[in-house]
Amino acid sequence: MTVLGAAQSGLAAAILLANNHSDVFVSDSGSVSSENTSRLHARGISFEENGHTARALEADFIVTSPGIPATAAPLQSASDLQIPVYSELELASWFCEAPILAVTGSNGKTTTTTLLGAILANSGRTTYLAGNIGIAFSDIVLDVKAEDVVVLEVSSFQLEHIHSFRPTVAVLLNISPDHLNRYDNNLSSYAECKYGITLNQTSSDKLVYNMDDHWISDRVDRDNGINRPEKLGFTLSDNPEAAGYVADGSLTLNTIATREVLMQQDELPIRGRHNIYNSLAASIAARMIEVGSDTVRNSLASFEGIEHRLEFVREVDGVRYVNDSKATNVNALWYALESFYSPVVLIAGGRDKGNDYSSVQSLVRDRVRMLISIGESADTVDAQLGPYADTRIVVESLEDAVQYASNLSKPGETVLLSPACASFDMFANFEARGDVFKRLVANL
Ligand code: ADP
Repeated sequence: MTVLGAAQSGLAAAILLANNHSDVFVSDSGSVSSENTSRLHARGISFEENGHTARALEADFIVTSPGIPATAAPLQSASDLQIPVYSELELASWFCEAPILAVTGSNGKTTTTTLLGAILANSGRTTYLAGNIGIAFSDIVLDVKAEDVVVLEVSSFQLEHIHSFRPTVAVLLNISPDHLNRYDNNLSSYAECKYGITLNQTSSDKLVYNMDDHWISDRVDRDNGINRPEKLGFTLSDNPEAAGYVADGSLTLNTIATREVLMQQDELPIRGRHNIYNSLAASIAARMIEVGSDTVRNSLASFEGIEHRLEFVREVDGVRYVNDSKATNVNALWYALESFYSPVVLIAGGRDKGNDYSSVQSLVRDRVRMLISIGESADTVDAQLGPYADTRIVVESLEDAVQYASNLSKPGETVLLSPACASFDMFANFEARGDVFKRLVANL
């Protein structure tokens, strides 16, 4: 078999196959890093780089990396030759005997996966986190025992090539425009791909889904076949029909015969409405594999959130600085702004994937006193959001942005880096962008 791509997940898939005594060949259209070259050599795995030859198609099946679009030449040829193509996630799942809890959605995957992982670990069960979160499923799957549990963060790219992947619990958080360039700018094909997480689920499995997301709830309502997963919805409204909801300001579960009140929503250490969704989703999923509600409650109360997601950095002269570098789309910016009541000095902009900023204009009008636009999309952000802020400025760099923010902010305000854009115009990735922001803030 052939593995396409020799970065993190491709390498992990190749080594998993080699461990299983398969004859594996790796093919990458670009150059393979020296570290990965050594690892492939060490395992005796043959490979090619800087282009795919006919050798790549001499395979019973192909395992593809998430970064490779379905339109790439070798995948097109594989389809013409009727060679099955599987994602790395699909491959790893063949070797997994433990229950899989899989989380997908446009935003909130890492937060919910991490939170769910924390709840399960607190329940005393050996818990593995993998997938999009940074550890390839293939890297850990051979360590997993049947009595353990695996929580996977699943991207839509990983769902493009599944065949038998079947999570015991699937969590579908939300669907909003992102990565639409990979789906011919078609929201419904992107959304349908995400719904693929349920494809092989049967009546003994569970689907935990966001009832307030119209696309998702319509799709779930239409999914009425026999032998389909049990549907467990969550909502922010007071709806006792839901498996998780908010009643009198309290996160409430209805997954067993009795109603369980977890905690007041304002007792959650992670802020924002989106985190109420994430918390409800993780709580229901954990209850579905018999974690007690006390463990769920204690875990929610002690979860401090994760780096680069509305991360509080520091307070300087009465101004709070918050790093939300992971906000790489407009929807994430919406939830960030929605979670602040004090006036915001917003730093936004970066590499724009064809964003439509209109959905945040009214929140900018209500909450943003000053807009500081940066990056490739600075002029677009300034043009579309600037008129709604009290004041606006376009600057050259993140350094300048933090300097202006510090000079012009007032006590009681929040300086928020929530770019609504990818980071690749100025940084290696969103982590590097957030790290630079935090360093600049530390030096104020
Ligand atoms: P993902 O892994 O799906 O990219 P993250 O948990 O890393 O999601 O969060 C990405 C961004 O989206 C952050 O800015 C975060 O504050 C915001 N976010 C988190 N959860 C949600 C949600 N349920 N809905 C909308 N935005 C969210």
